Amino acid sequence: TMPLHHDRLGPEARSFLRNDLDMLIDGKWVPARSGKVFDTYDPGTGRVIARVAEGDAADVDLAVKAARRAFEEGPWSRMSPSDRGRAIWKLADLIEQNADEFAELEVLNNGKPLSIARNSDVAMSADMFRYMAGWATKISGETLSISTPGNYHCFTVREPIGVVGQIIPWNAPLVMLAWKVAPALAAGCTIVLKPAEQTPVTALRFGRLIEEAGIPAGVVNIVTGFGPTAGAAIAAHEGIDKVAFTGSSEIGRIIVKAAAGNLKKVSLELGGKSPAIVFPDADLSVAVPGVAQGIFANSGQVCTAGSRLFAHKRVFDRVVEGIAERAGSIRVGHGFSEGVQMGPVISPVQHDRVMDYIRQGQAAGASVAAGGTRIGNEGNFIAPTILTGTTPDMAVVREEIFGPVLCAMSFDDDDLDRIAKQANDSAFGLAGSVWTRDVSIAHKMVRRIRAGRIGVNTHGSTDAAIPTGGFKQSGWGREKGHEGLNLYTETKSVIMAL
Ligand code: NAD
Repeated sequence: TMPLHHDRLGPEARSFLRNDLDMLIDGKWVPARSGKVFDTYDPGTGRVIARVAEGDAADVDLAVKAARRAFEEGPWSRMSPSDRGRAIWKLADLIEQNADEFAELEVLNNGKPLSIARNSDVAMSADMFRYMAGWATKISGETLSISTPGNYHCFTVREPIGVVGQIIPWNAPLVMLAWKVAPALAAGCTIVLKPAEQTPVTALRFGRLIEEAGIPAGVVNIVTGFGPTAGAAIAAHEGIDKVAFTGSSEIGRIIVKAAAGNLKKVSLELGGKSPAIVFPDADLSVAVPGVAQGIFANSGQVCTAGSRLFAHKRVFDRVVEGIAERAGSIRVGHGFSEGVQMGPVISPVQHDRVMDYIRQGQAAGASVAAGGTRIGNEGNFIAPTILTGTTPDMAVVREEIFGPVLCAMSFDDDDLDRIAKQANDSAFGLAGSVWTRDVSIAHKMVRRIRAGRIGVNTHGSTDAAIPTGGFKQSGWGREKGHEGLNLYTETKSVIMAL
C-alpha cells in the first residue's frame, strides 16, 4: 500500500482520497483510456497522497466531443441566463459547504498553511463563482449609432465563444480553477479543464459538485495529466474554440504555436517580475510588511509577486532590515502545523530551481541579507530570502524565480522617469506597487509603470472584480472582472436594412 499522510484530514477528505482518482468526462468518472495513473504528492513531506488518472490526447478528444455536444445540443446552451447564474451561484454555496474538506485537500496537495487555504483560497474561489453568477444575466450588446440612421438598424450581441480548453498551474489550484471556470460558465461556454499535474486533487473534488449544482453532463470536463501530452492535446485540438492558459511564459509560447493550427482564440496569464518601489516619504510601518507580504505570500509562488524591490537610498537600509527581520520570524513549516505562516514550494524540481537561482545570484556578486537556505530534510522548504547587491543584468533580477526570493536594489534619484525606467527594465509587465504618502508621486508612477495591475501602498488585491493580466510578455487578456467575462464571448454585429 502507498505511504499516505492522511492523519490530519477529516473523514470526508480521507474518504475522497481512498481510491484512485478518475477524471470527469461527459458527466462520468472514468479512468484514462490508456489505463495509466500517476502519483501526486504532499510537498510538505514528499510522500504520495493519491494516484490519479493519467489522461492524454485520447481522453482530451473524448472530453472535447462531450463539450461540443453539450454546447451544440443543449440543454446548457438553451438554459436561461438566470438558470445558468443560479447553477454557478450553487457552485459557490457547495464550495462553502465543503470548505473544510477543500482546504484540507489543498494543504495536502499544494502545501500552503491551512488557515490560508481555508480563509483565502477557498473563500476567494467561492467568491469568484458568486461574482460571475451575477454576470450571467448581464451579458448584452449595444445598439449602434451609424452614419445612415433610419435606413439601418444595427446592434451587437455577445455570444459564448464555444468549447474552451483551460490549462492551469499549481500555485493556487482551486483559485486558478475558479478564475477560469466561473466566467466561462457565466458566458455559456463548455469546458475541458486540465489541472496542473502537481495539484489535481481539488479540481477533481470540484468536479463532484458539477452534477450537484445541476450543470448538465459534458459542460465541465476535467482531464488530469501532464503538459506535453494532455496539455498539448488541448492547445492543438481542432475542436476547441479557445484556450486559456496560466503558467510560465515559456509554455505560453508553446501554447500560441499549437493554437495556430485552427487559430483558436488564446488568452494567457504568464510570468512576472513585478517591482515594488519605496519612496523616501513612505510610511515604512506599512511599506515593510506590505513588501514582505508581496514577495513571501504563498512562498513566492504568485505570478504577481513583488520580486524586485527598489527603495530610495535614504530608506533602503531600514526597509531591507525590516523585511529581513520579518523574513527571519516567518514560521515556515508543514501546512497542517499549528501557527505556520509559510509552506514549502511545490516540488523537489521547483525547490532545486529556486536554490539554483540563489546560488547563481551569489556567484554573480549578490549577498544574502536573509534566508538563502533550505529548511529541514523532509519536504521542499526554503527560508524567505533577500538578495542585496543585485544588478539589472543578473538572471535573478531578469527571470521569474517563483519562490520566496526578493532582489533588493536602491535608487538615489528624484526623477520619476528614471525610476520608472529601472522598474520597467523587464520583459514582464504583470504588476507593481508604489509606496509613498505623496498623492502626486503615486499618480505619476501609476502612469509610468508598464504593468497590468498597480498597487499604491499595497502590493495589490485578488478581488474578483479586479481585472488581472499582463503588459509585455506577461500575457494576453485580462482575467476577473467584467473583462474576464469578455474572454469567453464573441461579439456579433447585426446590420438590418430597413
Ligand atoms: P508550466 O508553465 O510548465 O505549467 C503550467 C501548466 O501548463 C500545467 O498545467 C502544465 O501541465 C501545462 N503544460 C506544461 N507543458 C505544456 C505544453 N507543452 N502544452 C500545454 N500545456 C502544458 O509551469 P511549471 O513547469 O509547473 O513551472 C515552471 C515555472 O513556471 C515556475 O517556476 C514559474 O516561474 C512559472 N509559473 C508561473 C505561474 C504563473 O501563475 N505565472 C504559474 C506556474 C508556474
